[in-house]
Amino acid sequence: KDFKNKVLNGEDDKLKAVKAEISQWADFAIDKQFLVGATEQFVKSMDEGLKHSASAKEYMPMIPTFVTGIPTGKETGLYLAADLGGTNFRVCSIKLNGDHTHELKQSKFKIPLDLMKNSTADALFSYLAKKVEAFLDEHHKEYSANTNGSLKLGFTFSFPVDQTALNRGKLIRWTKGFDLPDCVNKDVVELLQSHIDLLGVKVDVVALANDTVGTLLSRAYSNNEAKTHANTVLGCIFGTGTNGAYFEKLSNISKLDLTTVPKGATGMVINTEWGSFDNTLKVLPKTKYDDIVDKETANQGYHLFEKRISGMFLGELLRVILIDLFERGFIFTELFESRRGSLPHRLSEPWLLDSEVLSYLQIDDSTDLKMSQLVLENHLRLPTTREERLVIQKITQVVSHRAAYLSSIPIAAIVGRVKDQYKNDDRDFEIGCDGSVVEFYPGFQEKILEAFNLINPLEGTNKKLSLKIAKDGSGVGAALCASVAI
Ligand code: BGC
Ligand code: MG
Repeated sequence: KDFKNKVLNGEDDKLKAVKAEISQWADFAIDKQFLVGATEQFVKSMDEGLKHSASAKEYMPMIPTFVTGIPTGKETGLYLAADLGGTNFRVCSIKLNGDHTHELKQSKFKIPLDLMKNSTADALFSYLAKKVEAFLDEHHKEYSANTNGSLKLGFTFSFPVDQTALNRGKLIRWTKGFDLPDCVNKDVVELLQSHIDLLGVKVDVVALANDTVGTLLSRAYSNNEAKTHANTVLGCIFGTGTNGAYFEKLSNISKLDLTTVPKGATGMVINTEWGSFDNTLKVLPKTKYDDIVDKETANQGYHLFEKRISGMFLGELLRVILIDLFERGFIFTELFESRRGSLPHRLSEPWLLDSEVLSYLQIDDSTDLKMSQLVLENHLRLPTTREERLVIQKITQVVSHRAAYLSSIPIAAIVGRVKDQYKNDDRDFEIGCDGSVVEFYPGFQEKILEAFNLINPLEGTNKKLSLKIAKDGSGVGAALCASVAI
C-alpha cells in the first residue's frame, strides 16, 4: 500500500510508468457491480437470441436442440456414443439400467493435430468412423460388419451447429483448435453416417447432441432425486472451451417453428453457445492481452467470452503476458543475456502452454516456489529466479481468478431465469458440469460459487445452488438422446 500511495502521488517518470502498469492490471479485476451488470446483459442477450433465427454478434446463438424432455432415470437400453470434443475423441457404449445407474465401456483418443486444421471434413470423419469400427471390433463383436441388428449411436459434437431436428445439424463455425473450412455448413450427422456406411458397420446415427446437452441430461439421469433433493437446472462445460444448456419454455422460444416440435412438448433444451456472449465487447473486460490472443485464433472476433475463460486460453493468456513483460525488459533479463535474446520454444510458440501447468503454478506454496521452478524447467525449459516465479504466480492467479469470476455470470443469469419454472418446488438447484478446468483447476469451483453468491440470483427463495461433476457426462447424455430418438 505504501508503495502504491507513493506511486499514485509520485511525479517522476519511473513512477508514472508503474502507475500506468498498475491501471492496466486493474482491468483484470471483477467486482460485484460488474458481475450484476454483466448478468443483466447476459439475460438480454439470451432473450434476443431466442427471438432471432439469424445469427448476429449482438446476441447469443441460443440453439434449439429438439430435446423436449429431461430424463427421469428410468431410461433403459444399450447405446453407442461418439464424442468429438476440443481435445479428445471418445467412443463408448452405455447400458442404461433404468435405476439412475449405467455401465460404460470406452476408448479415448487424442485427436491428431493434423486432422484439426489444414485438412478436410472427409479426412476427419473417416478417422472418426474407423475408431467407431475399432471400438465395436473390440467390445461388441456382435455388431461389427455383416450382422443383422444395428446399434443406435448418439453423436456428441462440441461445436455450434444449426440444428433442425434431433438428428440434423449443420456446422455453423469451428471453435477451439479446429479449422476445417470445407466442413462448415455441412450436416455433421450425414458426414459421420456416410463414413460409417462406407465401412459396412451396422450403426445408425440417430441423435446429435452438444456436450452441454449431454451433461445436462446425464446429470439429470443419475441424479437420484430422493437422495439429493435437488433439481438439475443447467448442464455446462468449463474445459478446453465453455458453454451451457438448459430447459426453456416453448412460449419463450419465439424463433422456433412449432410444427417441428413433438405434440405435447412444453419446452426444449437450448444450447446457449455462451462462448459467444458479448462478441461486441459491450461489457466484457478487455486488456491488450485479450486482443493478442483473439488475433491468434481461427475464429477471430467470435467466442470472446470463451477466450477469457476456458482451458485452451488460460495458458495462452499467461504466455502472451510473459512475452510482453519480457519484451519490455521486466522479466527474464538474465535469461535473455545468457540465451542471446531467444526464449525457449514452448514460450515463444502460441498454444503450447497448457492450463494444467498453470494449476501447478497456482497452488505452489513451497519455499521459494521450488515446485514452480521444477514445473517451469520441465514443461517449458524455462530457468527462473525466485522473483520471476513470484511474478508468474501472481499473473496466474490474476488470469484464473478473472476466468472463474466471469464463469459465474451465465450460471447466475440462467438460474435466475429458470427459478420461475420451479416456484412450486422447494428443492434446491444443482448444475451438472464437466471439463478439465472445473474438474481439476485448483479453487475454480469455489470461486465460481463465491462470485455467484455476490450476484445472488436466488435471493427471495430458500434454494441453494451446488455444482456437481457429471462423470461420463457427454457419453451418457448422447445415449439418453439416442434413447428418445424414433
Ligand atoms: C463450443 C460449444 C461447446 C463448448 C465446450 C465451445 O467452443 O462452441 O459447442 O459446447 O466449446 O466444449
Ligand atoms: Mg468434452
